Amino acid sequence: MLFERLQKAAEKDIPDAAPCVGEIVAAMQDFLDKTNEYKKQAEQLAATKEILRQIQQLPTDLGNPTLIGLHLGNDSFKVKTVKSGKVESIICACILTTKQLIVANKPPRKDGQSTYAFNIPVDTIMEVRKCEKTFALELIQNDGDRVTLECLKRSKDLLSLWKKHLDETKSLNLPNGWNSNGHRFQLITIPEGTKCTKCYQPLPSSVMQGYSCSHCSQTVHIHCFQLVGAARRGTAPALPTQHLAVAAYHKNVTRQRATKFCRTRNPALT
Ligand SMILES: [Zn+2]
Ligand SMILES: [Zn+2]
Repeated sequence: MLFERLQKAAEKDIPDAAPCVGEIVAAMQDFLDKTNEYKKQAEQLAATKEILRQIQQLPTDLGNPTLIGLHLGNDSFKVKTVKSGKVESIICACILTTKQLIVANKPPRKDGQSTYAFNIPVDTIMEVRKCEKTFALELIQNDGDRVTLECLKRSKDLLSLWKKHLDETKSLNLPNGWNSNGHRFQLITIPEGTKCTKCYQPLPSSVMQGYSCSHCSQTVHIHCFQLVGAARRGTAPALPTQHLAVAAYHKNVTRQRATKFCRTRNPALT
């Protein structure tokens, strides 16, 4: 508003300078937009911290919002878990962040604190199914475990919102085992004489002696793999990719493509 008035005044009083003022106004607007975006993120981060702070017995790594992402939802559900045939049903507070779904037991008294129950990394969720009849979302994990979130408010809008958020975060997080560079390193036994693509030295002849990317077939020593920080899931290893096309291919790995890749390699997953 202020900038627009300034621009109008400049056009009237000093016509020569008007284009220049226009540019400044545009730059200022851009700066303001960026500042607002940053402020919004900072506010959301603070809100996430506050929500997590109120959960008792939360594992320390889950208490760090920068590691687990920003919160997207905080609602109550009746959570039904089916683990190795045993069904368990509890009333829980569910907190969805961009990387984790955190489930906390509701306190017996209203003013009490909720207690951490379990968490589901979003990258382990293979599918989210919506059942409007029971107001529930069914999450199917990559190990076959199922978790059902039954909306206590029986609201279709809330159900749709959670489904949307879960689907969106799911597409942002590559499935378990993939890292952000699109590699999918696994510790395996590598044939004798194979050379490491990081240090070019041959791998020792033993079992489970190196990591191999099932996506691009790169093989690396365990120490070379850890050296580049790839051991921490989610970080990008600075490994050389032999071919530019491989690098480009890896860069564009989406959740959908990664899942398809896993299915073609391992049809048992479907
Ligand atoms: Zn790879
Ligand atoms: Zn090496």
